[in-house]
Amino acid sequence: MIKENLISVENEIREACLRAGRRREDVTLIAVSKTKPVSDLEEAYALGVRVFGENKVQELADKYEVLPKDIEWHMIGHLQRNKVKYIIDKVALIHSVDSLRLAETIEKEAAKRNITVNILIEVNVAREESKFGLMPEELEEFIAKISDFSHIRVKGLMTIAPFVADSEENRVIFQRLHKLSVDIETKNVDNITMRVLSMGMTNDYAVAIEEGATMVRVGTGIFGARSYSKE
Ligand SMILES: *Cc1c(COP(=O)(O)O)cnc(C)c1O
Repeated sequence: MIKENLISVENEIREACLRAGRRREDVTLIAVSKTKPVSDLEEAYALGVRVFGENKVQELADKYEVLPKDIEWHMIGHLQRNKVKYIIDKVALIHSVDSLRLAETIEKEAAKRNITVNILIEVNVAREESKFGLMPEELEEFIAKISDFSHIRVKGLMTIAPFVADSEENRVIFQRLHKLSVDIETKNVDNITMRVLSMGMTNDYAVAIEEGATMVRVGTGIFGARSYSKE
């Protein structure tokens, strides 16, 4: 089933790129494998998938240990400060930096290891109470501060759009995140570039691509529905 799913997701990405006049290679598909067994990731890996997204530190670290080392891991879930040290040297990109205190911890741990860490700033564009992320009006001050952190490179913005019946409803959310990134880019702040826009999940990634997403995070669409019954 993973094979068929991947083919149809790939087709949908291509069609969205075509509609938007964008190149396929400018959009990275992140296979969101949270809750899924290692065997599912191996199956996707055998089909050519090399970019995986996880939202829990322990699960990411466990899968990292047993899977091939040419996989690019993305941390997409809320990250607790005391767990930064477990994944900081394992991930290609942390999508979910949502506070200055978290950024400070990442800076400190990265400095210890003498590495630089790529991050995205999570923005709560839809202003949902239940979601993490900075409010749009908090971005400017945040960026001025994080710019001083020499072991952090801000690569762009991330948002989790609301769960909606019709993906068109989220178009405005994606447009807003895109606009925020353009506004920040024009300020030319040290250590900050805005080339990555991580937005779009199974239900709305085509719309997100039309609005400029450079990374889409697709779980259910590739691996099928998740079961949380064992938790
Ligand atoms: C689970 C998750 C996804 C993938 O969701 P699907 O609807 O299954 O595609 C994407 N982004 C984040 C941050 C997630 O936690």
